[in-house]
Amino acid sequence: RAKAAGGNRYEHADADCDARAIARHSLTTCLPAALDHGEFFIEYQPLVRLADGTVRGAEALVRWLHPVHGVLGPDQFIPLAESTGLIVPLGRWVLEESARQARSWRAAEGGEPAPLRVNVNLSPSQLRHPGLVADTVAILGNAGLDPSALCLEVTENALIGADEDELRHLRQLADLGVDIALDDFGTGYSNLSYLRRLPVSTLKLDRSFTRGMQRAPADPVDVKIVEGIVSLAHTLDLSVTVEGVETGAQADHLRLLGCDTAQGWYYARPGPPERLHTLSLADAS
Ligand code: C2E
Ligand code: MG
Ligand code: MG
Ligand code: MG
Repeated sequence: RAKAAGGNRYEHADADCDARAIARHSLTTCLPAALDHGEFFIEYQPLVRLADGTVRGAEALVRWLHPVHGVLGPDQFIPLAESTGLIVPLGRWVLEESARQARSWRAAEGGEPAPLRVNVNLSPSQLRHPGLVADTVAILGNAGLDPSALCLEVTENALIGADEDELRHLRQLADLGVDIALDDFGTGYSNLSYLRRLPVSTLKLDRSFTRGMQRAPADPVDVKIVEGIVSLAHTLDLSVTVEGVETGAQADHLRLLGCDTAQGWYYARPGPPERLHTLSLADAS
């Protein structure tokens, strides 16, 4: 059939593909300059303690304000940054910004430090990078931020594939007092025995497991899975954060199941850093 179509045979099948390839190529080409031109910015999404609804901190989520395409989400450029190596300087910038921001949250309220913390995502290339630990120490020092105010999120899949160097980096970070969270937990290969060997303090349960609790009655299988993970986590002295909490019913249910911390649209969408402070002040009053 393709043959019979003659010279135009690729036109339709490949038009989308070409468009995507061109878009990817052009985004990839302008990524390095975008960092120099200050086109990246960070939104912060609150992390809320389920027991009392107080804001404990926020996750830093990077965005790219592209001069032509407008605001691009991380799913549109993090993989490109990862495959070109730009993720290392970009990730360092995210960490610098977030550390500075966390320091200013904590310094607010007339010098009375609010114990707000910041979570920053770490990609596989960053975890592998030999400068990671030294960079992190320098960034925390420059920002005047206590290591315990920082939580680095590594995906379960990145950790399963980690080699000795990467595990050593994580241990060194944990030894400094930085928290390590296992992001998108439950989506990887679940040989849970590796949890005992890793310097992880928090499991971030993937959104796919909490979706079943958005409506009442909740999906009974999802409830059992969450129950099982919470009990495992607490046995190992890990805390459980749940992602993608979109309804009050879901938040109530996850609290009753013993989850510690929640994040999701029900509380707040990712937003500017000033808003986090407003939310946490509202708690205090
Ligand atoms: P993640 O770390 O699992 O972050 C959570 C994602 O879920 C965010 O998407 C957030 O906006 C979204 N989300 C939060 N609450 C809800 C909810 O209630 N419902 C739904 N449907 N979604 C919710 P976002 O901002 O698009 O980020 C996507 C991923 O990009 C992140 O997933 C993270 O893996 C990665 N990422 C973001 N910032 C960075 C960064 O600075 N460095 C690296 N390496 N990766 C990053
Ligand atoms: Mg994350
Ligand atoms: Mg996550
Ligand atoms: Mg996720």
